[in-house]
Amino acid sequence: MPIDDGLIGGIHVARLSRAEAAADVGHDREAFQASTLDALLRGELRGDLTIGELLDHGDLGLGTLDLLDGELIVLDGEAWVARADRSVSRVDPALRTPFAVVCRFRPEVEGPLGAGSFDQVTEQVDALAPPGSACLSVRIDAHVRRARLRSVPRQDQPRPTLADAVAAQVEYDATDLHATIVGFRFPRDVDGLELPGWHLHLISRDRTIAGHVMALEITAGTAWVEHQDDLHVEVPAGVDVGRIGFDAERARRLNRMERGG
Ligand SMILES: [Zn+2]
Repeated sequence: MPIDDGLIGGIHVARLSRAEAAADVGHDREAFQASTLDALLRGELRGDLTIGELLDHGDLGLGTLDLLDGELIVLDGEAWVARADRSVSRVDPALRTPFAVVCRFRPEVEGPLGAGSFDQVTEQVDALAPPGSACLSVRIDAHVRRARLRSVPRQDQPRPTLADAVAAQVEYDATDLHATIVGFRFPRDVDGLELPGWHLHLISRDRTIAGHVMALEITAGTAWVEHQDDLHVEVPAGVDVGRIGFDAERARRLNRMERGG
């Protein structure tokens, strides 16, 4: 399915050129995405959007950097990167991203979260969401008893792929910390564009630990939730959008890579 088709899984999806993306800023209830996950799976590990440009489209989000050089966290309008050496630092706004999604976060709902695992926490967030929401963004501030985090090392070989990066990924545990977790929930039908289901990245309050969340156990926290009606995707010139729509084999591969399942 071409992504110019409009409504996919309850979200209005629009494909933008780089020039259109530059003019397309400042909408509420809209998620903005740099390229597609399917492009990343096919080895398109260089993007044409800088982190500075990405931040024009939103103040909360996640993604990666060119050549998969770590896990990107956008929080309060600041971009941070968790690299595979476990360092956490602010991102140079001139660096580029081959895949990221952000929104101008204006939460509609705030609610307390009880203790729980990744699934239990996201179920509580689902329950807070406005009824009928297809796409959600969330910010969670929590005390984390334990989190299993992941980062990926920069891929410098001639034809790098996401699979190479994930094969070289680094997983590490963080315990007993105060952290913010940001992310999105996308419906199954956007498979290929995005990761269906919940995708969360974590950064500690002291900004020393961060990564893609593989597993989670919180003691308590607060969640802020917003739904998005629109997803605007900037696809770099020359990048094939790929197949959009649920694909069981791709979903299995992604689930293995992104959730260790
Ligand atoms: Zn991630």
